Amino acid sequence: MAKYENVKTNDSVMESDLETKESEEEVKLRKIIKEVKEHVAMKDRKLPRIFGKTIVLYQANNQAVLTIGPHIGFTICLFVTIIAVSIGAIYLASLSSGILALVGAIIGLLLLIALGFTALVAPGHPSLEVTEEDLKLVEQDHQVWCKICKVIKRKGDQHCSECYSCVEGMDHHCPWMGKCVGKGNLAFFDLFIILAGVYFIFLFATVISYLVATGDDS
Ligand SMILES: [Zn+2]
Ligand SMILES: [Zn+2]
Repeated sequence: MAKYENVKTNDSVMESDLETKESEEEVKLRKIIKEVKEHVAMKDRKLPRIFGKTIVLYQANNQAVLTIGPHIGFTICLFVTIIAVSIGAIYLASLSSGILALVGAIIGLLLLIALGFTALVAPGHPSLEVTEEDLKLVEQDHQVWCKICKVIKRKGDQHCSECYSCVEGMDHHCPWMGKCVGKGNLAFFDLFIILAGVYFIFLFATVISYLVATGDDS
């Protein structure tokens, strides 16, 4: 009997725990709804110059156009490395084939341009405007609201813990690009990857061409 009472007491404790948890959830939801309502009322929210850890270099219509991310140092290292490798490879290629050297110079240049565009073009950030429609979305699922950025995360949007900001159509965070790759700069990133593949073929062709040329000489 004493044992039965003990079980019953434990059950009541669990039930009251559940109730407390539920009310905590409700309080949390109410707080979020209140915050979203404040943002619905707030018109013309200005995009800050530093959004999370992203520096906005240029903006138009309250949207970031050019930005640099928190890992810009990696991008500079990669940029310098590509230039250094290109100078060496183009010189080596010129010893065996002038055309190969020219092709290498063009690919190297395009690679640097693609890197520059990916690192500078904004990956896209969710709109700062919050509407009545958005409020309904939050009421259905409060996880669509980013408490840090104060924006609505739509399908595909994610908050990046490295950039400390929400990214529209998030692909991944790339330290080599210094920031996130998202809807805005994904095409440039894809181009960079394709060109990097072609660039490696050029490096391989340069080494083979040099070995063949020096082999013929001796
Ligand atoms: Zn966010
Ligand atoms: Zn990021």
